[in-house]
Amino acid sequence: MSEVANTFKSRIFHDLDFDKPGKQTGYLRVPQSREGGAWSVIEVPIAVINGGNGPAVLFTGGVHGDEYEGQIAISRLARQLDPASVRGKIIMLPAVDLPAALAGRRMCPIDGRDFNRCMPGDAHGSFCQMLAHFIETTIMPQVEVSVDVHAAGNSMEAALCSIMHRVDDPKIIERTQALAENFAAPYNVLFWGVDEGGTVAASAERNGALSISTEIGGYGRVRPDAVRIAERGLDNVLKWMEMIDGNPDTAQPDGGRTKQMQVRDQKSYLFAPSDGLFEPRFLPEQQIQTGELAGYLHFIDEWAREPQPIEFQIDGYIWMAPGSGRVKKGDVMAVIMQDFV
Ligand SMILES: [Zn+2]
Repeated sequence: MSEVANTFKSRIFHDLDFDKPGKQTGYLRVPQSREGGAWSVIEVPIAVINGGNGPAVLFTGGVHGDEYEGQIAISRLARQLDPASVRGKIIMLPAVDLPAALAGRRMCPIDGRDFNRCMPGDAHGSFCQMLAHFIETTIMPQVEVSVDVHAAGNSMEAALCSIMHRVDDPKIIERTQALAENFAAPYNVLFWGVDEGGTVAASAERNGALSISTEIGGYGRVRPDAVRIAERGLDNVLKWMEMIDGNPDTAQPDGGRTKQMQVRDQKSYLFAPSDGLFEPRFLPEQQIQTGELAGYLHFIDEWAREPQPIEFQIDGYIWMAPGSGRVKKGDVMAVIMQDFV
């Protein structure tokens, strides 16, 4: 009798042993046949630091290739951390969507996908889908905490923050807010998102791990203060989980603590009513009010058409400030956060 192939088996291979003590740096090898490379692989960097008994965490960066602070902070941590000082296991993927990271782009240049819409993935799918399936089925089940470092990308800038989903269990919300307070970005935003089922955060939640992501930075550059927030945040999380010695440093420039915020629903999003050139009248963190002018939508190809004033629909503070210039109907022109209640 012929054997039936296991349709759920990953096609990704590697030479890591996730339970072996010490530090291992290597690659997840994702098969990618192409013209001129029949048996080629894409080598995605991965580090595992295992210091014996203790919890397990996953740190991911470069899920979007145009977001750089996490790529820097996580690869530096992987190089510098001494396994002898660690209790438990730290799995680090500093550039998850490596082809996108090398291209400085949001979408993967190999399959055209947004990696953060691909979870739980598909063992038989494209590059992103294969890798998403591996993370969902092999890595996420190992960890208790997942921190996915994003930085808003080429088209937006964020009020520097950690972010989390509104999950059903209030106890998990409380524990996640505690995790975020110890990561200690200036803001933590519990948010309603436009398309969240396929994200790394959603995968962590499905696998029962505490999950935060971040939005530190934006406009496709590297912010020095955001790199510091990422580095301190990852270090803080390890301290909070007693995986390394020391107490988390949660101090903020204003002397306070991380501000707990929320993005309640779709009213918090300002969508473009038509194609045009958007001139925003705001910056991240700025306080705004319902009816206040958000900016003008210009139609530069039509002399006869006046710019269209755009107004905010709710009170709050600017969370995401898009500045891409040209917008298409349905693109986000602003996202508003409010105090968490
Ligand atoms: Zn991102």
